[in-house]
Amino acid sequence: PPGVIEADAVIIGAGPVGLFQVFELGLLEIKAHVIDSLGAVGGQCVELYPDKPIYDIPAVPSCTGQELTDNLLKQIEPFEPTFHLGQEVTKVARRDDGRFDVETSTGTQFITKTIFIAAGVGSFQARTLKVDGIEVFEGSQLHYKVKDPAIFEGKNLVICGGGDSALDWALNFVGKAESVVLLHRREDFRAAPASVAKMKALCDDYEMQLIIGQATGYEAGDDGKLSQLKVTGADGVTRRVPLDMLLVFFGLSPKLGPIAEWGLDIERRQLKVQNTEKFETNVPGIFAVGDINTYPGKKKLILSGFHEAALAAFGAAPYIFPDKKIHMQYTTTSPKLHKVLGVE
Ligand code: FAD
Repeated sequence: PPGVIEADAVIIGAGPVGLFQVFELGLLEIKAHVIDSLGAVGGQCVELYPDKPIYDIPAVPSCTGQELTDNLLKQIEPFEPTFHLGQEVTKVARRDDGRFDVETSTGTQFITKTIFIAAGVGSFQARTLKVDGIEVFEGSQLHYKVKDPAIFEGKNLVICGGGDSALDWALNFVGKAESVVLLHRREDFRAAPASVAKMKALCDDYEMQLIIGQATGYEAGDDGKLSQLKVTGADGVTRRVPLDMLLVFFGLSPKLGPIAEWGLDIERRQLKVQNTEKFETNVPGIFAVGDINTYPGKKKLILSGFHEAALAAFGAAPYIFPDKKIHMQYTTTSPKLHKVLGVE
């Protein structure tokens, strides 16, 4: 069918291991498509600790999560991977011809000979507000991220959360929105102390308001629109806060999500691999590498994931080149590898 991408290899997850999988496949002349639910590559390294140094990457005494990611991107450049970001892989199904149908949340479709699941701890999703029924306003008046800041200008905003996202957006909208109320369940904030100080100063100047409490319910107007948030304070009293828009920043939590439905052997939220020779799952042609897999002795380290990616690439090659004998070669000395790396 038109629009369907035919591929030799699809990598699910653009964390460090998914990125290095591109490299190992590239050396074997296998081109890869890489899909990630996040809008940026780097997985946990970029999402959870971009500025923290990592000390146990072989031959790299120290580099931050972001630096590791930037270097991996540079290293895989010769292999021209195609990235499909901001979309979660929702469907994986085996076809009669032995290949796989893969589909993402935004409707991108692939037919691929092999799949490498490098999905880490699962796909990161925004933690939702637990108020019965409020989900009907998602996308209209309830938002977990800011795509277009303009839609919040001139509006009465309630912003929930105590981390950097909540504080940064609250500070950003002061002066642009009609009113800004920051709602946090306790006095402690996870956000940068400077932002917290700035927020408190703005509250003292009546430029915005801080409420300590939790959203416990809501009220809708005759037009069906969300009109008031019920907020229960530490004193147990529930107050009503009128609003036009509700922004919630409770952080991201990883979810195994759709991966659990693809017929793969799962043990304690991890994919079991058949052996440590190929890191293939119970479904031939589907490999699992990095934090998502499990086998006796597994250690969730980046360096282990890199090794797994190398062996998985060799394990997968026969599905793509059934008649070719695959030899291991050194990047230092192999003219063929120099050619694929573009360093002739
Ligand atoms: P991840 O980095 O988790 O990336 C997986 C990616 O897959 C994510 O981007 C996710 O969005 C995506 N994904 C998942 N499911 C789907 C789906 N269905 N569709 C599309 N995309 C999907 N390790 C070390 O070796 N040394 C250290 O010093 C070190 N320090 C750490 C410090 C912290 C604070 C943390 C949290 C971890 C640390 N780690 C360290 C662990 C290291 O970050 C992980 O081992 C590594 O990130 C695993 O890489 P990965 O590529 O397997 O998975």
